[in-house]
Amino acid sequence: MDFDVAVIGGGSAGYSAASTAQSLGARVAIIDPGPLGGLCILKGCMPTKTILRTSDIMALMRRAEEFGIRPVDPQASLPAINDRKNKLIQEFTDYRIQQLKDSRFTLIQERAEFISPHEIRVGDQTLKAKSFILATGSVIADYPVSGLTETGYITSDDVLQMREAPQSIIVLGAGAVAVELAQFFLRIGVEVTLLQRSPHILSKGDEDLARPVEHRFRQEGMNLFTGTNILRAEKNQEGATIYFQHEGEEKSVRAQTILQALGRRPNIDGLHLESAEVETQKGRITVDAKMKTNQPHIFAVGDVNGIHEVVHIAIQQGEVAGHNATHPENEREVDDRLKSSVVFTDPAVASVGLSEKECQAGNIAYLAASHPFDDHGKSMCLGETHGHVKLLCDPVSGKVLGGHIVGPEAGELIHELITLMHFGGTVKDLAGIPHYHPTLAEILTYPAEELLEQLG
Ligand SMILES: Cc1cc2nc3c(=O)[nH]c(=O)nc-3n(C[C@H](O)[C@H](O)[C@H](O)COP(=O)(O)OP(=O)(O)OC[C@H]3O[C@@H](n4cnc5c(N)ncnc54)[C@H](O)[C@@H]3O)c2cc1C
Repeated sequence: MDFDVAVIGGGSAGYSAASTAQSLGARVAIIDPGPLGGLCILKGCMPTKTILRTSDIMALMRRAEEFGIRPVDPQASLPAINDRKNKLIQEFTDYRIQQLKDSRFTLIQERAEFISPHEIRVGDQTLKAKSFILATGSVIADYPVSGLTETGYITSDDVLQMREAPQSIIVLGAGAVAVELAQFFLRIGVEVTLLQRSPHILSKGDEDLARPVEHRFRQEGMNLFTGTNILRAEKNQEGATIYFQHEGEEKSVRAQTILQALGRRPNIDGLHLESAEVETQKGRITVDAKMKTNQPHIFAVGDVNGIHEVVHIAIQQGEVAGHNATHPENEREVDDRLKSSVVFTDPAVASVGLSEKECQAGNIAYLAASHPFDDHGKSMCLGETHGHVKLLCDPVSGKVLGGHIVGPEAGELIHELITLMHFGGTVKDLAGIPHYHPTLAEILTYPAEELLEQLG
């Protein structure tokens, strides 16, 4: 064998898998044609969070008077926003490239494709390895909206390269990427219409978590339509028109451009998985909790398995696969009890563990309690009163099953609940932990106390 482990794809999942396997003594090759850096750094988490910082500051500046400051009228400069982002992204990318080029690994900058279950072609070479870890990420999915391709649209990739903001935009979709970018455009002064098929935005989560975000969007001037059926797109002189069904009527919206943010799909194109006899389901590589495909020596981690497309999970899956590829006698599994997500809107939405929807679908008994931010001292001091926190616990043991926050700093606050759940904590534990006053974090103790009462 040429290598013990060949990792295909050097993004977050692939790098973590390679690093783990190498630290456990394996000879590791990383195969990636580039551009090196991975989605999170190049076109995902980091660039979007960098530009959102600007739009959040602008929104706060517009509220100057509310805080006793003479009113200001901030103006956004998209070239300057993207220049700041590019500078930071270059730093993150350089660091990741340095890590990939480290002498601990053999980095092969080629595209990989299987020629048999134990061999891949990389450029004009054939490479053999005892184990393969697939980490080729995801690509933007095409959606069959009539006339959309002919009308033309932009994607999240294009937004990150834009030098000139459109006057108006129609956002198709309401997942994390769609809503974050919709609010970015809205806050830098673009007229935004968001069209969503489901009855509420962020439709994978509970409805009560989406409503405060929808309320804020509308308050800030977004045209938001939920429960729509998109009929067709047409090109016009100004840009584009989308026709859709809403509340029993056919309606239309016009804008200079369309942002297609309906979702991504696993990137399995050109891997020739059939030569490796690796099974897929609906375009996703199927894996078990050990991150193994149907071929016990081939693993798939990160977006390519489509389980939960966020970075820290990609990293965790990479670590598990890296370990299992080198220690078959002592295999590990990914703990999906702590599945978490954050949507970086304002208010932000953060969740860990089970949602009410999941409990109901799985017939899992639970108790729930929530507390609003507009009844909490510190959020009132900050003027950040949209949203609430919600806890779900086991009705007998009081063990926390899920935690949800929609409100200020939700992405930071959720880590108290992740920590609690990591250690198998109960609502009694949470209510008993001392919390500094006045802080946003204190709010988590209120639903915990309410649940304690319900538990008797
Ligand atoms: C706009 C946007 C914002 C996001 N924001 C967040 C966020 O805030 N927080 C969060 O947790 N997640 C966020 N995500 C999701 C996150 O970026 C992804 O879940 C994560 O980066 C996936 O990592 P990965 O390692 O699976 O794939 P990638 O990082 O995409 O790595 C795949 C690698 O495989 C290589 N490759 C592809 N095909 C081949 C081949 N045939 N042979 C060899 N190499 C190949 C590619 O060149 C690439 O380097 C965001 C995504 C987007 C699009």
